[in-house]
Amino acid sequence: MDALHVYNSLTRRKERFEPINPPFVGMYVCGPTVYGNAHLGHARSAITFDIVFRYLKASGYQVRYVRNVTDVGHLENDADEGESKVEKQARIQQLEPMEVAQLYFNNYIEDMAALGMLRPSIEPRATGHILEQIEVIQQILDHGYAYEVNGSIYFDVPAYNKDFSYGILSGRDLDNMLAESRDNLEGGSEKRHPADFALWKKASPSHIMRWNSPWSVGFPGWHIECTVMSTKYLGEWYDIHGGGMDLLFPHHEAEIAQSNACNLHGHAHGKNEAKYWLHNNMITYEGQKMGKSLGNAIGLREFFSGDHPLLEQPYAPMTIRFFILQAHYRSTVDFSNAALQAAERGLQRMGEGLKRLAGIDPQARAVAVNPELEQNLASFRADVTAHMNDDFNTAKAIARMYEALPVINQLYKDSSSTFGVSPETFTTFRQDFLAVWQDWLGMGATTEAAGQQEDLLDGLMGVITELRSQARQAKDWAVADQIRDRLNALHIKLEDTPDGTDWYVEK
Ligand SMILES: [Zn+2]
Repeated sequence: MDALHVYNSLTRRKERFEPINPPFVGMYVCGPTVYGNAHLGHARSAITFDIVFRYLKASGYQVRYVRNVTDVGHLENDADEGESKVEKQARIQQLEPMEVAQLYFNNYIEDMAALGMLRPSIEPRATGHILEQIEVIQQILDHGYAYEVNGSIYFDVPAYNKDFSYGILSGRDLDNMLAESRDNLEGGSEKRHPADFALWKKASPSHIMRWNSPWSVGFPGWHIECTVMSTKYLGEWYDIHGGGMDLLFPHHEAEIAQSNACNLHGHAHGKNEAKYWLHNNMITYEGQKMGKSLGNAIGLREFFSGDHPLLEQPYAPMTIRFFILQAHYRSTVDFSNAALQAAERGLQRMGEGLKRLAGIDPQARAVAVNPELEQNLASFRADVTAHMNDDFNTAKAIARMYEALPVINQLYKDSSSTFGVSPETFTTFRQDFLAVWQDWLGMGATTEAAGQQEDLLDGLMGVITELRSQARQAKDWAVADQIRDRLNALHIKLEDTPDGTDWYVEK
């Protein structure tokens, strides 16, 4: 596609991407609830929107990317009951809730950096925006779309549904929601309708995280923070709202309702908070959903260390990134050791291709253009751009990179023959190939880190082979042989040539 198209969950179709106020783009993505370490599902969502962020920037947009940190209000149960996730961890670990939030936020940032993620432009915390949340809740109350019971405030879904459509994003119908959940609304619930959700909860005596409000000493509900923080930093109506498909209902549906319920006037009226709603799909394990409650949620740190009964080996963060990018973000990805090992091999092949690409000197040989090779390289950028324009299809973009590998290998290998492409085409292709890999796909860290390791190894081997040749010159055969044998044990082979000593790692 020659212009960017994105699949919009709100309209259920692929649409041409036209920002509200170009060249600016505002993007909000639901971030982590910081009560535990991130798992593979978190990585997929973060990687998906890291790609969106990178590609929009590469396309010339000026992007403000906001990703929140949920440190209050996310209860264990979607029905607005149960303990706060952060507070529960604080109780178990005997820490201050803010210590829990900080600890897991730090870990999250560290894991995301390992996975090659760019930091968002703003990372607002729910606890830093309590006053703003109280203000918006008051507006919703004033507009008649919320009610108070015993100091708690609930969003009045049926009242809202008379003027707007609750279910516009998820396609659910309020009557069905009522039928589905009638049994769940047991005695003791303060809600008038099962679909209603908490905007403010009065704190029980044991609840530590509490703030003053006009209604009670309490804390905000989970959904309200995202409406409040997204519109505070991006405006009442902004371009992109992203998140995992598991957040589509009730979290994002509730966000849309809150936004419409407080914006009764002005340009954002009835605009459903964001123009494009993007959702990444889930990661499964042997076809099953992965989740903490299912006992098969593997933490990212466990992948990095290999320390988990389901893992056969450790996996480098970039292998995981590459594995995730090899699928389109809207399809499910089935994780298995075999799939990750295949990604590891694929990444190795790509790494070798990149190394060769860097080592080719197009000026060193006579040129005899081979139309097939020339065409493969000349169309590279347009092909990859078309794939990325088609709803960020990284899977096809990577496949196109693989198609260029045999050409790279051919140009690299036979240095005695002629060069099959024009130097101009080659030079442009090399720049584009690197830009796609490093900037668009964010895979740069691998090659850089691997490159640094290689430089270090080269340097060390230089020192060792030099010491060995000094020993040989001094006819100290015992030391020279000892060096060779010790290197042999490390699978490093030496080859003495008239010009010095070569070395290679035996595979
Ligand atoms: Zn959210």
